Amino acid sequence: MNIDALSKLTYGMYVVSTIENGKMNGYLGNTAMQISAEPNMVAVACSKNNYTAKMIESSQLFSISILNKKLSKETIKTFGYTSGKDADKFAEAKYTLGDTGCPILLNDTSAWVECKVVNTFDVGTHLVFVGEVVNCDIVDNKDLMTYQYYHDTFKAKSPKNAPTFRGNNNNNIQLNGDIIMETKKFQCDVCGYVYDPTVGDPDGGIAPGTPFQDIPEDWVCPICGVDKSNFSEA
Ligand code: FE
Repeated sequence: MNIDALSKLTYGMYVVSTIENGKMNGYLGNTAMQISAEPNMVAVACSKNNYTAKMIESSQLFSISILNKKLSKETIKTFGYTSGKDADKFAEAKYTLGDTGCPILLNDTSAWVECKVVNTFDVGTHLVFVGEVVNCDIVDNKDLMTYQYYHDTFKAKSPKNAPTFRGNNNNNIQLNGDIIMETKKFQCDVCGYVYDPTVGDPDGGIAPGTPFQDIPEDWVCPICGVDKSNFSEA
């Protein structure tokens, strides 16, 4: 058996949300699908370690926001790398409340589906919630985010525009034997983001060409928000 075959399955990207006793929460995930047309049924698979899963078990409600390729680092950080236990993920979010009272995230969302849970299956590490569609709508027609595109965009280990002008010592870029640019990459232990000095982090104020050790100490991972101490050599 080649277990890598499973990584060839294709997915989209979603934020699945719920509300329980007035508390809203949601998580970034890749498993959501329609499983019946009459009645309209969808299913989401949710890790048992996920706080939102425990809330859905209790509320029996969830919404799926179908994300587009404009997916921002802010949405990834909030819904993918923050726990709803200690943060209000919806505090800064754009959202609406559905017919059931369930929150529906609207940031970077091209369509949404609101559901009532009709069945729950314990399938091992995850719970599968089967939901009957209560309401759904299209927000815009932007290109949709896929799991593959997400990984390529936010966790790419080697940027497509990597310079071809490379020396042979430690991968550093050299000119006449002098190191003119450190190219050692560092990876976030939390989310997998790779800092590439040749690219820098322009959105975070780090110019291309800045070695990792020269980044100011108050810089944080652009994806998950942890500080430099959480990075290791890639
Ligand atoms: Fe990170």
